Amino acid sequence: MAAFRARFARDPRRIAAAPGRVNLIGEHTDYNDGFVLPIAIDRRTVVCIDWSPDSTSHIHAADLNASVDLPALNSLRPDASINIKVDADAARIRTGSWVSYAAGVLANLAAIVPPLAARGVDLTIASSVPLGSGLSSSASLEVGVATAAAALAGASITPRDLAALCRDAEHRFAGVPCGIMDQYIAAMGRHDHALLIDCRTQAAELVAMPGADRAEVVVMDSRVKHALASGQYAERRETCRAACRVMGIDSLRDASPELLTLHAPGARSPATLSPVEHARARHIISENARTLAAAQALRAGDLEEVGRLMLASHASLREHYQVSCPELDTLVELAAQVPGVFGARMTGGGFGGCAIALATPHAADRLVREIPAAYRARHALPHGLDARVFVTTACDGASVIA
Ligand code: ADP
Ligand code: MG
Repeated sequence: MAAFRARFARDPRRIAAAPGRVNLIGEHTDYNDGFVLPIAIDRRTVVCIDWSPDSTSHIHAADLNASVDLPALNSLRPDASINIKVDADAARIRTGSWVSYAAGVLANLAAIVPPLAARGVDLTIASSVPLGSGLSSSASLEVGVATAAAALAGASITPRDLAALCRDAEHRFAGVPCGIMDQYIAAMGRHDHALLIDCRTQAAELVAMPGADRAEVVVMDSRVKHALASGQYAERRETCRAACRVMGIDSLRDASPELLTLHAPGARSPATLSPVEHARARHIISENARTLAAAQALRAGDLEEVGRLMLASHASLREHYQVSCPELDTLVELAAQVPGVFGARMTGGGFGGCAIALATPHAADRLVREIPAAYRARHALPHGLDARVFVTTACDGASVIA
């Protein structure tokens, strides 16, 4: 609101917000047609919007102190090679720039909401989700922009369709081949619930979380992001596909522990997995089972079991999928030592970003107070940064605030 007033010297016509998220369990399963179990968190991106006086759109990112002007929203195209270039009939937006996230969403919306093709918008973005920490600032921006712009144009779009449109924008404009989890939970999250998403059928089922008097989710941001992350991500995807070819299946969702044994290195099968393929597939198969078991344990209120599954997930990601890093291992190890912590694990793609813990309120307070110093004693962070540790609860997905 303040950012909009400062930039445009009037009040916005609509305000919308969409949350970031953490994934409780189900890591690297999304692109293997598997299960994930995220919650929306109480950090969100707020988007203020009004029609602009003409067909030019003015987008301001308060957190980056950056602004950009865009021509007709139905003329926007992604382009890997340039910043922003306006030709006679189209404006080309550099793939992956901050603008590409907002512009992609507006372009996709303008294709199905005629008023947005005809008029420009004035729009500000301000977020309490840390950018690029694995808490899905990108999807919270996308879903926030989509919710605000749809409300401004009077278009009613289901949360599911809105999420799909945002994901498509992240694919084509931002150039990130993400799964559906981030946009789904940002659009469809519910207070006090996790969302069990079947990434194959895209079915999404709410699962009640324990009351905040019994357990809280603690987010522990390692503040590191190792450069090999995106290359390793592409490599893991390719290894999973290779493992499927060996086992004669379309996706690791269809693999069972028995099938894995049949094709294990050294087995008598004509087609055997390499040790690396075997380890990666083993993680995915067991992680899908853990995710379903964790949803069941949540429903039953069995937090000890949820915690055990989280710790097993982390061990599998560290040993078999090999996407953890010393900093994330430290955070999980430190948290797991505190009495009242049910479990902890890295969350997100790995090689940095965040870990989470499920803990009693008392233990959660201890983690907030004690983790930063204990972490600092083990890892030297650049520029005197500390681990960022905060308590969150499962929150609602995107909404129009005003
Ligand atoms: P994550 O989604 O885990 O935070 P990503 O790398 O997927 O990390 O997305 C981060 C990128 O999204 C940023 O580098 C920026 O381009 C864009 N972004 C996210 N939030 C904002 C924001 N509040 N303002 C401008 N750009 C943002
Ligand atoms: Mg993201």
